[in-house]
Amino acid sequence: MFYQQEFDVIVVGGGHAGTEAALASARMGVNTLLLTHNVETLGQMSCNPAIGGIGKGHLVKEIDALGGAMALATDKAGIQFRTLNSSKGPAVRATRAQADRSLYRTAIRNIIEHQPNLTLFQQSCDDLIVENDRVCGVVTQMGLKFKAKTVVLTVGTFLGGTIHIGMENYKGGRAGDPPSIALAERLRALPFRVDRLKTGTPARLDSRTLNYDLMQEQPGDTPLPVVSFMGKVEDHPRQISCYITHTNERTHDIIRSGLDRSPMYTGVIEGVGPRYCPSIEDKINRFADKNSHQIFVEPEGLNSIEIYPNGISTSLPFDVQFDLVRSIKGFENAHIIRPGYAIEYDFFDPRDLKQTLETKFIEGLFFAGQINGTTGYEEAGAQGLLAGANAALQVQQKDPLVLRRDEAYVGVLIDDLSSMGTKEPYRMFTSRAEYRLLLREDNADFRLTAKGREIGLVDDARWAAFNQKMDAIELERQRLKSTWVHPKHAAAEKLNPLLKNPLSREHSLEDIIRRPEMTYLKLTSIDGFGPAIENAQAAEQVEIQIKYAGYIERQKDEIAKSLRHENTLLPMDFDYSTISGLSNEVVAKLTETRPETIGKATRISGITPAAISLLLVHLKKQG
Ligand code: FAD
Repeated sequence: MFYQQEFDVIVVGGGHAGTEAALASARMGVNTLLLTHNVETLGQMSCNPAIGGIGKGHLVKEIDALGGAMALATDKAGIQFRTLNSSKGPAVRATRAQADRSLYRTAIRNIIEHQPNLTLFQQSCDDLIVENDRVCGVVTQMGLKFKAKTVVLTVGTFLGGTIHIGMENYKGGRAGDPPSIALAERLRALPFRVDRLKTGTPARLDSRTLNYDLMQEQPGDTPLPVVSFMGKVEDHPRQISCYITHTNERTHDIIRSGLDRSPMYTGVIEGVGPRYCPSIEDKINRFADKNSHQIFVEPEGLNSIEIYPNGISTSLPFDVQFDLVRSIKGFENAHIIRPGYAIEYDFFDPRDLKQTLETKFIEGLFFAGQINGTTGYEEAGAQGLLAGANAALQVQQKDPLVLRRDEAYVGVLIDDLSSMGTKEPYRMFTSRAEYRLLLREDNADFRLTAKGREIGLVDDARWAAFNQKMDAIELERQRLKSTWVHPKHAAAEKLNPLLKNPLSREHSLEDIIRRPEMTYLKLTSIDGFGPAIENAQAAEQVEIQIKYAGYIERQKDEIAKSLRHENTLLPMDFDYSTISGLSNEVVAKLTETRPETIGKATRISGITPAAISLLLVHLKKQG
């Protein structure tokens, strides 16, 4: 039976990618259906209840700058906020929030329920309707058919999901949820390259059985950070602390003694796990010389007795999990509420995707989130937003939204995936971006909000707040540029004690802020030079724009230079072995990957700038 209404966009899956995808296309005014297994688990955090961190926090701010939900929900659900790398430069500073799992779900559900053009339906999607290599709809478990112009699949770890605890395993999408078997089989029959990955999660502990006196307390930051550009500190719920403890030699011995029953070390699990979020058995194996690993003891929520011990993800048998947990300081009497487990699932090679996240083989079908080989809520949310927006743009017959590597971490993420693919769960790091100085958390709105507004992703309230902030920055910068201080000026007397070298000639206020010992807030606190602008985010921008102007200009020059060759085409039948000077390794990599452009060639790991110069010279010679 066909459902009576036809949709423009159907999003399958209500996780982090799915909710952002559905909200994005609905915000853009197209008729959207969000079809998910269980409406109660919309926005469910499958693993640790935390959002943000280095690289990931940048993605959250970008989702927010494009009108997405993740940062808004985090402000409503965060119970411990921190700014990481706060003593370092603004490019690598990142916000992280411990979230109340249930408040987060409630916040996402609330945003979804208030979004016009968005319809919810609870059922499993078991099949796709494909005609002449174009997707036309989906079929649910009970045989109900939904027609649509485009479909976005965001089914996470559910495709052919197998859960492992020790040598036991069973089918599951994540603990407590069914896997997607029928859909996995359908997708495997399509011409996409498919492989298996794995991820894992630690046992959850009963807070009442832990001894916090033996652990180190880790309170949140003061002043309290806010994640969304539209957020306020007053949005945050009550704040509580996290704690830190460590594994020890005994823990490691217990783990080693259980490796013969570990699904990872006995070859039962074939999928590759996340290198940067390894299981504890992986850690003691890879870092054999370390006799201790840190564990962050994170509360799951304000009204929950569950604790997430971040750092001891494991799929060892339950008896080993029990002993290893109890060997840890503060966990001596710990009760395990939920055992840790690993999950293996299908993912599709993201090189089979266009930069819009539309699949290369089936028109109108988009993939976003963990299905593309990534790991993490933030990576999923960012892809979801882009896929949802591009599905809507295709329906509207408008140009796609593709963000370049120098414009956004989302651009880096999608470019990395679609040009290089991934062999292990991909997570974002600031080191993956070559233009870090431009891609800061604090300027995500500068980079993206106007783009979002242009295509309908950004609502009037956000747009008005953004413009107000821009105007305030502009006015203040003009004032600082055009206000001059003479050494004999009365206010200079108050300023000189704060300077390493007192003023010897006239300087603009902007020049003075550039001095390393001076800040915008220090300067504007002096009578006659202030007051500082009220909007704290705008004040921060004024300071960063002035202090880093030189570096930022240099990076922009570099971008302009590299863009010159970004789209230079490389013939698909190019014989790289004929280029003298290229190493065998470079020839092999180029021959295997066959990049379409010089831009893509530069991003293949191991392809050096020198190799690119040789390629350019060769292309020039060929005319
Ligand atoms: P999900 O959040 O998994 O959402 C998928 C949604 O699709 C769900 O709502 C599901 O019900 C729905 N769905 C699935 N199939 C169908 C269907 N056929 N029809 C209808 N609906 C369907 N990330 C980290 O960053 N670090 C970690 O250490 C980490 N560990 C993890 C451990 C485990 C055990 C799991 C399960 C995940 C872990 N993650 C970790 C990953 C993180 O949870 C995901 O990256 C993130 O949730 C992916 O978002 P997503 O939207 O792609 O998928």
